[in-house]
Amino acid sequence: MRHITLLGATGSIGLSTLDVIRRHPDRFVLHALTANSQADAMASLCLEFQPRVAVMANAAAAERLQGLLVGQCDTEVLAGPAALCLAAEAPEVDTVMAAIVGAAGLPATLAAVRAGKRVLLANKEALVMSGQLFMDAVAASGAELLPIDSEHNAIFQCLPPSRARNLDNDGVRRILLTASGGPFRTHSAAALRQVSPAQACAHPNWSMGRKISVDSATLMNKGLELIEACWLFNTNPDRIEVHVHPESIIHSMVEYVDGSVLAQLGSPDMRTPIANGLAWPDRIDAGVESLDLFALGRFNFERPDPERFPCLRLAAEAFKAGGTAPAVLNAANEVAVAAFLDTTLCFADIPVIIERTLTAITTVAADSFDTIFSQDQAARLVASEQIARMDV
Ligand code: NAD
Ligand code: MG
Repeated sequence: MRHITLLGATGSIGLSTLDVIRRHPDRFVLHALTANSQADAMASLCLEFQPRVAVMANAAAAERLQGLLVGQCDTEVLAGPAALCLAAEAPEVDTVMAAIVGAAGLPATLAAVRAGKRVLLANKEALVMSGQLFMDAVAASGAELLPIDSEHNAIFQCLPPSRARNLDNDGVRRILLTASGGPFRTHSAAALRQVSPAQACAHPNWSMGRKISVDSATLMNKGLELIEACWLFNTNPDRIEVHVHPESIIHSMVEYVDGSVLAQLGSPDMRTPIANGLAWPDRIDAGVESLDLFALGRFNFERPDPERFPCLRLAAEAFKAGGTAPAVLNAANEVAVAAFLDTTLCFADIPVIIERTLTAITTVAADSFDTIFSQDQAARLVASEQIARMDV
């Protein structure tokens, strides 16, 4: 039996995780479910899964949840960010799904890492922000970090099992990171100035939360994933080549020195990597249909266009700059994406805000989590000011 805390239960990854868990009551027990403010959605999840604990980051939402559950189930309701960390490090728990979106997920994800859990990492922003410190914490506690991002899970499945990653010893020449290209893959630069949040969130292949949908449309998602891959697989951007593959069936590939290229394929359904992480090294039914390659017919590949989609370059540069640059990149992106979703920023100006924020903030050594959090806050202020100026 695996005892699980699910951080971000009401989100897209959270609900897909629950769908896999629902199929295997003999394998998984839920200790805690957490969410930000969606009390009604959380109440129905608590009634179905009867976790020991439910945490709402928002205190008013916790109060509402408490009211909804009175007399209905024994779940203990807790409130606030500190309670998220308690749920992640609880001694009863061996597995934590980290599926909060954005920098807000770092403290609880880190708590799970420090407590030496099996950590299923969907919250890529946590790793992007804190890179070396995060990986050092994994090494220090002996936590088992398993990638849930579909590309990284694919790469993980194509690599030989080993805990201390060294691609040279594994005979790897390079990683081929695939990208769908997003909903605006074929849009002109002029058309990118006109797109709406609804269009950006209508991904052709994947159904995801709003923030990652916009990231996918700007290719910042691939930029964050490039950084994520560098940390997870102990490599650098020069050994990773992004391949736009609009069908989203090949989830990434690993090329070996003998010329072999191993790929992991599957329907674009996050339940596959989630089930892989939950049951690893076993395989369990994820509720995912068989691939119909006859119906698909063919696979296409293109190079990403750096002119229309500069976010990929910005992310590679931030990784190479090192220190706090990736945390600044991530924070500026979160602010710019929120402004775009709020219709106060044009889609094509998202990379402009990120680049200006990176230029304005001096990169310093990422020597502590406090430094990371303070640079994150500084970047949010600068990005907000830049957005306000754009409006004028
Ligand atoms: P989502 O917006 O659908 O869900 C986010 C979850 O986080 C919700 O449960 C929400 O309540 C919670 N949350 C938000 N802000 C919070 C806060 N301040 N404090 C505590 N909880 C908070 O997002 P998603 O699409 O499920 O993505 C989750 C993470 O997984 C992201 O980091 C994303 O990049 C990554 N990811 C998602 C997918 C996907 O297919 N959706 C694929 C790969 C990686
Ligand atoms: Mg991905």
